[in-house]
Amino acid sequence: MGRILHTAHQLTTLLEKVKQSLTEKTQLPALTWRNRARGLADSLLNFVFPPVCGACKKAGSLLCETCHAQLQWVQAPLCNRCGRPVTKPTERCSVCQERPLPLHQIRAAVLFAHPVSKLIHNLKYNGAFALSRPLAQLMADAWAQWHMPVDLVMPIPLHAERERKRGYNQSTLLTRDFCNLVALPYVEDGLTRTRFTTPQVGLTAVERLKNVQDAFAANVDVVGKHVLLIDDVCTTGATMAAAANILIASGAQAVSGYCVARAI
Ligand SMILES: [Zn+2]
Ligand SMILES: [Zn+2]
Repeated sequence: MGRILHTAHQLTTLLEKVKQSLTEKTQLPALTWRNRARGLADSLLNFVFPPVCGACKKAGSLLCETCHAQLQWVQAPLCNRCGRPVTKPTERCSVCQERPLPLHQIRAAVLFAHPVSKLIHNLKYNGAFALSRPLAQLMADAWAQWHMPVDLVMPIPLHAERERKRGYNQSTLLTRDFCNLVALPYVEDGLTRTRFTTPQVGLTAVERLKNVQDAFAANVDVVGKHVLLIDDVCTTGATMAAAANILIASGAQAVSGYCVARAI
C-alpha cells in the first residue's frame, strides 16, 4: 500500500512539473524556445552518448572539474595591444614596437597549455565538435574583464577545401557558442579564404605574416564598424593581422581579436 501511495505521489509531482513547464512555455519568447529545444536536444544526446572530458576522458562532462582546475587563465599585466603577458603593464610590448599589429587589441581566455591544448586538438583534428561549447564558455567567462568595443563578431575562416574535409570550421562553432553566451551579434561568413595557406605551426613570425598575407576577402558591410575576430589559438597574431587588414581596407573602424588560448 505504501509503495502504491509513493508511486502515486511521484506521478502527481511529475504531472505538476509538466503543467508548470507548459504554462511557462506559453509565455516565453521565440529565442528562449530555441534555447529550450537546444537544451532538450542536449539532454537527449547526453543520455544516448554520456559526455566525457575532452582532455582526460573522465565521464560526466566535456571538461571535468579536475581539468578545469588546471586552466591557466590569462592575467594582467599584459601588452595592451597584442595581449602578451608581460612583466609590467605596457601600451606596446617590444614585439609590438618592432612589428605593430593592425589590430586594436588581441585577447585570449587562457594560456595554450594542458588541458586546453588537448581540447583544441580534439576539436580540430578528431571531430569532437561538441568541445566548442566548453571552450566558448571559457571565452565567455573571461570576456567581461577585457572591455573590448564590438559591433560585429566573425570567425577566422578556413579554406573551403579544409573546411569540407574537417566538416566544420572550429572558429565558426566557437563564434556561434560564444556569441550566444554573451549576446553579441555575429556573421558566420563575413570573411573567406581566397587561397590555400600552409599551417602556421613551425613558421617564424615573419614567415607567418608572409604565409597569410592577402589570404582573405570580406563579404559583409563593415564600414564604420568595430569587428571582433574569433579564433581558437593565437600565437604571433599573423592570421588575425591578415584578416584585420582586409577588414580595415573594407572600411572597418577597428578590428580586435579574441581567442580561446594564447600560445607564447
Ligand atoms: Zn578532465
Ligand atoms: Zn604587444
